[in-house]
Amino acid sequence: MNLDTAREALKKYFGYDSFRPMQADIIRKVYEGCDSLVLMPTGGGKSICYQIPAVTMPGAAIVVSPLISLMKDQVEGLRANGIRAAFLNSSLEESAQRKVEEEALAGRLDLLYVSPEKLVSQNFLPLLRSIRPNLFAIDEAHCISSWGHDFRPEYTQLRFLKKEFPETPIIALTATADKLTRRDIIAQLELRQPGLFIASFDRPNLSLEVRPGQRRLEQIAAFIKKRPGQPGIIYCLSRKSTEDLAEKLLERGISAAHYHAGMEAGERTAVQEDFINDRTEVICATVAFGMGIDKSNVRWVIHYNLPKNIESYYQEIGRCGRDGANADTLLFYSFNDVMVLQDILQKNESDMLDIKMAKLERMRQYAEAVGCRRRILLSYFGEDVKQDCGNCDICKNPPQAFDGTVIAQKALSAIHRLRQQAGMAMLIDVLRGSGKKEILDRGYQNIKTYGAGRDIPILEWQHYFHQLLNLGYIEIAHDQHGAVQLTPASRRVLFEGEKVQLVRFATIKERQEAEKARAKEAAKPQRVRDELFEKLRQLRIQLARERGVPPYIIFNDATLEEMAATRPMTDEEMKNISGVGERKLHLYGSYFIDAIIEFTGPASRRGKASTYQVTHDMYQRGLSVEEIAGKRQVNITTIYSHLAILYEQGIDIALEEMVSPAVVSQVLKSLRYLQEPYLLKDIYEYLDEQVPYHQIRLALAYGKRQGMVAG
Ligand code: ADP
Ligand code: ZN
Repeated sequence: MNLDTAREALKKYFGYDSFRPMQADIIRKVYEGCDSLVLMPTGGGKSICYQIPAVTMPGAAIVVSPLISLMKDQVEGLRANGIRAAFLNSSLEESAQRKVEEEALAGRLDLLYVSPEKLVSQNFLPLLRSIRPNLFAIDEAHCISSWGHDFRPEYTQLRFLKKEFPETPIIALTATADKLTRRDIIAQLELRQPGLFIASFDRPNLSLEVRPGQRRLEQIAAFIKKRPGQPGIIYCLSRKSTEDLAEKLLERGISAAHYHAGMEAGERTAVQEDFINDRTEVICATVAFGMGIDKSNVRWVIHYNLPKNIESYYQEIGRCGRDGANADTLLFYSFNDVMVLQDILQKNESDMLDIKMAKLERMRQYAEAVGCRRRILLSYFGEDVKQDCGNCDICKNPPQAFDGTVIAQKALSAIHRLRQQAGMAMLIDVLRGSGKKEILDRGYQNIKTYGAGRDIPILEWQHYFHQLLNLGYIEIAHDQHGAVQLTPASRRVLFEGEKVQLVRFATIKERQEAEKARAKEAAKPQRVRDELFEKLRQLRIQLARERGVPPYIIFNDATLEEMAATRPMTDEEMKNISGVGERKLHLYGSYFIDAIIEFTGPASRRGKASTYQVTHDMYQRGLSVEEIAGKRQVNITTIYSHLAILYEQGIDIALEEMVSPAVVSQVLKSLRYLQEPYLLKDIYEYLDEQVPYHQIRLALAYGKRQGMVAG
């Protein structure tokens, strides 16, 4: 077995051109008969690492997976790619089990998925012996360790595999395993000098954003409206809030449902199925949701409340964008959430309380960070990152620092004068000179800092207090009802002239304005793509309905995006799209090609598109425009317009040989004085009939492809 065979299989079955980092190395290990431990983030591409060996090596691979629904999904996905896969678990009827077993024995399977219960059961061993597996893949391998979460007792019996099948390589895969868990996996499975593959946990396609938790409902509704037709998950802290939120979204015409562990099993399954099949767009859920689903086209995740640690947060946002296409995450943060979580921890979790509190504190620091968020996340997971990511809210809208010494002095002095007994809300009231009865009753109107911060709004004060907390200038005494207290550092500010740098408060409004401006900037080149993408997405839903499979089984979002951007119109071109393997090309290719042709050619059908194709073929063979026109018996302008359209579709046409930069700039400038839609005739006249039509057409094509002219 060599890697060329592996690469061919990757293209043939999955339609991918190359392996991701590490995949090839892992596969090579399997071919060499060695064991491996693979740590990759969700969506990192773990499955390929055993699926490719399974389809290229003689015999069948056994995949152990603890989640029944996921097993079904995977098998369905594999079959859609023309791979011979099946599963065995308790959800199957006796007769169906028998059938799968027969297939396995007859050597008609490349992959057999089994639940751990099934694998370790006594009556399975004889079957396993006669199949003589070529590979064991242990998915969610962290379940073997009582150190990690999701401990599964059956997993600990898996050590019999090495004893029974000492020659068969084992590959253990997981997305979460700290050092202790890793060691446990290796020991329990008795892996022999395993290759250790730890991929970066970076998910560059996920944007990261944190916003203050005010008017969350409005913000969420606006967020969703901006993303029509894009499935997403909103994580809430309590069961009740999932229900409330879903209802409020429904009232606003958003297709939403709630999900939590308190619902009946049947109800939960129905909600999940609707989501998987793109019938429900938004799920408001507790963290119980998402574990067992493999939906790759979730486009966004919102945290309505602060998660209790960074591990959970990262795992939850990791449920979007698994197909590699861009996806957005948004975390709402309020100090109140922190208090609530602290309370919950203190009430319920007596063991390792300190650690849990410290983890919550890290989460809070993340939410309040004023540096690149991805760097914070990755450094938390022990990765050394040297560059800002450019895809988080801080990178996109860097906060401005200013000399906040005076503000800090006012705040600290207020704390001092209230004898370090007051909570944050009270302090802000005093600073703002509030006339609340509570304040006046206590005589706080008479202290020196009363009203000293009148000019700063409440929200802004909160923001500064949080910064002072992060900077270590104040602390909060949780055991004294959240009284804000001074630290040694605060004395340096009050008495020794230490300067304090604070970050300017960007109001929600300012942030939204900034985002709007960015969206506008990005909108032009994307507009056409979005329309076609939407069309292809609808087609995918329709095909999925007819076939009774989830839409992402047909093609995933990243594949549709690439189709929309490059507009393949022939089988040959379609094959080049990442995610289009032989079987899917055969099954669905023509549907999507037709849709693209219909969208692209003005009122055109296949005939028209092949007309472009004919021109393109001749052009590629090196014929001049005149020669093509002559052969095809059409006028030259028509051929130029074909070439312009092909160029717009991203096809390699040497436009610069046909139109000069001067003309291009002349034409594009003229658009400023004309109205959309731009008619060739208007431009022609505007340019005093000096520039021939075909040159104008070519210049426009250039403008469109550069995103300077809307499609
Ligand atoms: P994991 O099991 O690690 O969560 P998957 O194996 O489900 O991740 O892969 C996530 C997505 O990435 C899937 O849509 C998969 O088809 C895609 N993918 C995996 N490997 C490649 C590759 N080499 N090229 C392109 N896409 C890939
Ligand atoms: Zn960043």
